[in-house]
Amino acid sequence: MTRVAIVTGGTRGIGAAISKALKAAGYKVAANYAGNDEAAARFRAETDIATYKWDVGDFDACAAGVAEVEKDLGPVDILVNNAGITRDGFLHKMTRDQWSSVIRTNLDSLFNMTRPVIGGMRDRGFGRVIVISSINGQKGQIGQTNYAASKAGDIGFVKALALEGAAKNITANVIAPGYVLTEMVAAMDSKVLETRVLPLIPTGRLGQPEEVARAVLFLVSDDAGYITGSTLTINGGQHMV
Ligand code: NDP
Repeated sequence: MTRVAIVTGGTRGIGAAISKALKAAGYKVAANYAGNDEAAARFRAETDIATYKWDVGDFDACAAGVAEVEKDLGPVDILVNNAGITRDGFLHKMTRDQWSSVIRTNLDSLFNMTRPVIGGMRDRGFGRVIVISSINGQKGQIGQTNYAASKAGDIGFVKALALEGAAKNITANVIAPGYVLTEMVAAMDSKVLETRVLPLIPTGRLGQPEEVARAVLFLVSDDAGYITGSTLTINGGQHMV
């Protein structure tokens, strides 16, 4: 039986690498995205992976999106909560919109997406939930009170979910990447990257999206059934917890 996976934000960056790795490993994959139709069309053409547009911050849209995926591909066994945004600013200048858009997309999405799939996973006695957090949720970052709060929230969510799912063969784990070369990081000032970020990374380089994808592949496998509630850091040694 082929397992079905949803990857939120699965058409670009880390999510795209995760979608591709899951497909290459034989899973049926649904790659969700928010609104960049061009990128999604390119991704679809390149990978032949089905794409689905909905906003992970919208509870009803998530329920409808999951229902559509399940109609097309079958019941969801694997959920990778990857979609995320930044809206940086010092707290003393941060707007309510900067705060709430990040909490909505990065944190509300965990409830919105996991709620419609968790009952089925419990009924079928198998499930894998992965949340892509961030090094900055573990150690904080200037200008990112909103983002750090949302990414630290991932860890509490997963620990509680792991306890609830353990007896039903459902695991929940966090991956906390450091700096990974995607558009999110490429958008940073290159001088800041070279002078302030790279010197902090013991391996001396940025991570690649495929390096995160390979960890996801392991954590969703049957071999990883005893790993739950954990946070796996993938950060080149930048921050060890
Ligand atoms: P990208 O900006 O490259 O891609 C983001 C993806 O998420 C896109 O597919 C985007 O869709 C989708 N997305 C954004 N908002 C929503 C929404 N409301 N509903 C549905 N989909 C949405 O991000 P990255 O690949 O860099 O980051 C992926 C995850 O990894 C994020 O959670 C991020 O916080 C985390 N992370 C990234 C790091 C990095 O260095 N890159 C480091 C640590 C953590 P669309 O294409 O339509 O815009």
